[in-house]
Amino acid sequence: MAKSYKHIETKLIHAGEPNPRIMGAVSMPIFQSAMFEYTGETSYHDLKYIRLNNTPNHVALHQKLVALENAEAAVVTASGMAAISTALLSILSAGDHLLAQECLYGGTHDFLTGDFAGLGIGLDFIDGDDPGSWESKLRPETKAVFVETMTNPLLQVADLKAVVSFAKAHSLVSLIDNTFATPVNFRPIEWGFDLSLHSCTKYLNGHSDIVAGAVIGRAGLIEKITHKLNHLGGSLDPHACFLLHRGMKTLALRMKCHNESALSIARFLEEHQAIEKVNYPGLESHPGHGRARELFDGFSGMLSFEPKGGVEAADRFIQNTNLPVVAPSLGGIETLITRPVTTSHAGVSIEDRQRLGISDSLIRVSVGIEKTEDIIEDFEQALNV
Ligand SMILES: *Cc1c(COP(=O)(O)O)cnc(C)c1O
Repeated sequence: MAKSYKHIETKLIHAGEPNPRIMGAVSMPIFQSAMFEYTGETSYHDLKYIRLNNTPNHVALHQKLVALENAEAAVVTASGMAAISTALLSILSAGDHLLAQECLYGGTHDFLTGDFAGLGIGLDFIDGDDPGSWESKLRPETKAVFVETMTNPLLQVADLKAVVSFAKAHSLVSLIDNTFATPVNFRPIEWGFDLSLHSCTKYLNGHSDIVAGAVIGRAGLIEKITHKLNHLGGSLDPHACFLLHRGMKTLALRMKCHNESALSIARFLEEHQAIEKVNYPGLESHPGHGRARELFDGFSGMLSFEPKGGVEAADRFIQNTNLPVVAPSLGGIETLITRPVTTSHAGVSIEDRQRLGISDSLIRVSVGIEKTEDIIEDFEQALNV
């Protein structure tokens, strides 16, 4: 019987660890073995093989992730996109239809708009803020609804409770990309979502040194997704499993720091006279603040803002900062800064960007775990140059 632990800080350290410890090892060893001896397994999916996602390194991670989100089952994948594409392709086939929140992560948006038509899967986008408009997009063949916990780069929080009740009322599978919040700040399964997905590349690993993903949720669905993953081949290598496992142990500490630091930096920026607008769900001025307060235990480390003076001022600010690394991606221990229009949202048309409220001067920051005062001091000098 696996022991159960009450608090997430303790689960991160102890849940899913081998019992008894392997040769007494305190840290989970890496099982760098493609296959394992046959012991009478009767199903293809139960043969022990790295691609079948069932080596000791996979199993330990699955049990830890299950404990973190209080779910039934989990599976780790080779990347966040492997988690998203495999989960969707397990639920949807030719003739089916998906409702997806507009303003999704770029890779997901590209996958839906670029690949679904060729697969014969229908797609409509919904406004996460306007539940009244969702029913008109339903079709008899609608099978699932896909949303994100917080949108990129404006950090909007959809009406997530309405998403769950809408999915239940219409027998849809509800999927949520929980990458930006992490299980420390939000546990979708507790609120009724069927599947929670992660790019573990970001906060869960936290050290910007691997690409990995996970799907967490209902046992029957996770079994289907695991079998699809076994066919499509997007399994996580044992060495990456080990790095993810090690990174996750400090998730609670890191998120506490990301949450506190991002809120302080958002408040600093909001009060600065050179700043036009700040988007951070922890600010009272953010339209999603009420929902975020109800649903989340913290507001995470992502924020975006527009300096006064347009694109020139934005580029000057980015050039003048010394501390952040200018790079897309997020969720690592180092502060990253980027102008989404030139990176993550370069593929989005000008009309769509305007409709979604993503201005050319918008700067996105993934706040790292450096000392908050040092980041603020650097931002202050960059704004005053
Ligand atoms: C990065 C990211 C992904 C994709 O993850 P990869 O690990 O790069 O494949 C999906 N969703 C969100 C919200 C992300 O930030």
